[in-house]
Amino acid sequence: MKKELRRAVIAGNWKMNNTPSQAKALIEEMKPLVKDADCDVVLCVPFIDIPAAVEAAKGSNIKIGAENIHFKASGAYTGEISADMLKEAGVEYVVVGHSERRQYFAETDQTVNLRTLAAVNAGLKAIVCVGETLEQRELGYTETLLKYQTKMALTNVTKEQLKNIIIAYEPVWAIGTGVTATADQADEGNGFCRAAIAEAYGEDVAQTVTVQYGGSMNAKNAEELVAKVNVDGGLIGGASLKAEDFSIIVKAASK
Ligand code: PEP
Repeated sequence: MKKELRRAVIAGNWKMNNTPSQAKALIEEMKPLVKDADCDVVLCVPFIDIPAAVEAAKGSNIKIGAENIHFKASGAYTGEISADMLKEAGVEYVVVGHSERRQYFAETDQTVNLRTLAAVNAGLKAIVCVGETLEQRELGYTETLLKYQTKMALTNVTKEQLKNIIIAYEPVWAIGTGVTATADQADEGNGFCRAAIAEAYGEDVAQTVTVQYGGSMNAKNAEELVAKVNVDGGLIGGASLKAEDFSIIVKAASK
């Protein structure tokens, strides 16, 4: 395992929280706290917050991401946002296939793949989420499912484009529940995702891909999680809404 080949990424996922003025205030509060980070720092924010977030983050080490992207370039897709729209607004990252989108908005492995391709074809960095439910884990399907979801999401993604892909292993049972995977469970899940990449692209390539853990990561447990060889940072929901907590996670990933 070659952790040193990969840069850790700590990405906040604000979900449906913060108005534009609240976004500005929170980013202003975060900027001095994360300025010395030795990892990439990203905030994925609601579409409506993007202009305020981009403006507030200007000149800092905080990059702005979106929480979703549509796979078509333009057209009759009411309520959707395209890659070009995100690019022009100053977005650099986008979360794709979050379990809440799979659960509440009928995302499938096919649409996750299309959205991933739309992102990387536009030069955006895609944070692609995969993860098993508690039932799937208890049935013993975790490895099979994580490998399947990872490979499906990456269908037709070239080796070159893989440089703009981050995989986020997010066990569904750990998201927003306060139940965190143990560090060993996180390491194992991330390892399954990396193994799927190795099967598709080769071991050398797989060693270069950032694989985050996400699921109730917080200021208290981050250090133990990110210390694991397969855990290259985290995708953070609840704890990314508090400047101090988020900055502690960023510091943990910078060690
Ligand atoms: C997430 O939204 O991706 C997430 C991991 O949420 P939380 O940290 O709140 O579990």
